[in-house]
This record gives sequence, C-alpha cells and structure tokens, in this order.
Amino acid sequence: MIDLRSDTVTTPDEAMRDAARDADVGDDVYGEDPTVNELEARAADLVGMEDALYVPTGTMGNQVAVRTHTERGQEVLTERESHVVKWELGGMAQLSTLQVRTLDGGERGVPTPEQVREEYVEEDLHRPGTGLLTLENTHNSKGGVAVAPERIDAAAEAARDLGVPVHLDGARVCNAAVAHEVPVERVTENVDSVMFCLSKGLGAPVGSMLAGSEAFVERARRNRKLFGGGMRQAGIVAAPGLLALENVERLSEDHDNARLLAERLAGVEGLSVQDPETNIVLVNTEATGLTADEFLDACEDAGVLGTQFDTHVARFCTHWDVDRDDIADAAERIGDAVEA
Ligand SMILES: *Cc1c(COP(=O)(O)O)cnc(C)c1O
Repeated sequence: MIDLRSDTVTTPDEAMRDAARDADVGDDVYGEDPTVNELEARAADLVGMEDALYVPTGTMGNQVAVRTHTERGQEVLTERESHVVKWELGGMAQLSTLQVRTLDGGERGVPTPEQVREEYVEEDLHRPGTGLLTLENTHNSKGGVAVAPERIDAAAEAARDLGVPVHLDGARVCNAAVAHEVPVERVTENVDSVMFCLSKGLGAPVGSMLAGSEAFVERARRNRKLFGGGMRQAGIVAAPGLLALENVERLSEDHDNARLLAERLAGVEGLSVQDPETNIVLVNTEATGLTADEFLDACEDAGVLGTQFDTHVARFCTHWDVDRDDIADAAERIGDAVEA
C-alpha cells in the first residue's frame, strides 16, 4: 500500500529510535529535561523567536496560543478554511470562550490588510473587541499553498497596527520557507507566535513547537499545563524532534515528488489537478463522474491511499516514507483505477 493520506504517517528511522533510547531526561514540568530544553532553544532559533514550548500536538499548540493571546469573550479573526476553525473541534469556543469572525482569504487563504481592518471590532459597551488574528502557512485546505512572506507581513502589520496580536499556524511553515527559498525565520518575522509540527514532513514521531516572546512562552507554559499537556520525561519523544529539525531542506524532495505526482495525474482522463507548491496535491474528480469518496475507494483497491477533502476533491500528501519510484507507481495505479 502506498500511503499518501498525510505526511503524519511517517515512522521514525533508526537514528530517531536510537536518539529516543539514549536521550538525557528529567522532569519537564520542573523544567529539568535537558533534551526538551535543547529542543525548545533550537526551535526558537529556527523561527527567530525568543523562546519556544514543546507541545504534544499541533492542535494543542494552536489552542494554547489562542488562549494565551486572548481574554474570554473576545473575537478571533481567522480565515474561513483555516485549520484552527475547521479541524479543531471548535476549540476556540470550547476551550477559550471566544467568538470567531471568519474572513475569506481567497485562493491563497490569506486575508488582505483591508479585510483585517474592515473586520476588526473595537471593544465598547456592546462589542467584544478583536483579540487575535490567526494566519496559516502553508495553507492546508487550499492545497498546501506556500503563502509569500510579504503577504503574511501585510496582514500581520495591519493587525498589529490595531493592537491585535498575530498567531501563525505554521504546521508546515518549513515547507513554505523551502518553497520560497528563504530561511524559516523570514516567514515568521512579523507574527507574534508560531506553531509548527515536528511530526509531519520533518519526520518526528510526536510533537509540535509553539514559539514567541519569552513573556508569551511563560504564559503559554501555564496554559499547556491547564490543557493537560505538561509532560514529564518528555526527552524520550523530544530527542527525535531534535533530529527532525535537521530535515528542513529535505522537504524539497517531497515538493519534487508532489510535482511529479501532479504531472502524472494531470494526464489521467477526467482528473483535474491543482499545481502543487509544496507536498500536497489536490485532485478534482468531478469530470470522471466519481465523487472523491468513490475515487478514493478505487485508489485503495489499486493500492494507494489518500483523503477526502470535499465532495469532488481528494488530497494526496507526499512525505519521507515515499520516494520517486513509489510516486510513479502510485500515479500509474491511480490512472488504472480511474480508467478501469
Ligand atoms: C496538522 C495540522 C495541525 C494540527 O496538528 P496535529 O498535530 O495533527 O494536532 C494544525 N494546523 C495545520 C495547518 C495542520 O496541517
């Protein structure tokens, strides 16, 4: 089976397993796990922030960030297809008692400065006030588009001019940086906090990082505890994360493979394929007469897994555990499945 459901399906290699076994550990809730401390310092460096916090999942990282930036009852401005509002069980309402105001970020999933200014709400006797703007890069639901740093800057500056902090859901921000051939810290330069996943294309088995100013991370650490994410000898899982930080440049292989898959699939009768910018390939199945679910069932029978994104849209994601040959093989199997 060629598993292209997500870049989260990678399994740790021998080096990561060795690192886990040999990790120096301590109680991280007391701040005494040297491996976690090193990971937090190096992750902060990568994104050009003062400090960082190791969290079990990207979802927890985003939700801790939202909670840390806001006060109960405020509004959060967020793109309507963004992960934080679409795929996190309404966590902003459930965990932080916030109201969400969504913006349409268009094809690239990022609001313009004008939109930010228009949707900003000033606090008064009747209105709750805007407490946070969230952005996403790469934008998952838009097909892994790598948003240019300048667009992130523009939206973020508009918010910050209004006194509104900005959180970047950068689950795949390293993919965005590689696609634009800039250091990761360039993409995160003008936001107040960023979450990124070690457990996706970077290949770690577990974990995400939440970075920001020292004061932000200090408060985020309390909220991580509140949300049940204070871990003890977490160096065992953080050690592979240190190796994952070395894999940023490797992501370009996934991007090449995504392009190869898209090119091959574009040649299949009835499939329409969005040009991939990173490691995500969106395929529209409408002209084949199949729904995405029917299409994916046929793919599975042919030995390829993907995920359903919309009635007629399926997603394939390239990652460390599939190479060029696997991708060529997958494209052939998918072609046979559709044309059968
Ligand atoms: C995967 C993902 C997350 C959440 O990460 P988990 O570790 O699965 O909780 C958040 N945002 C985006 C854009 C993602 O792709």
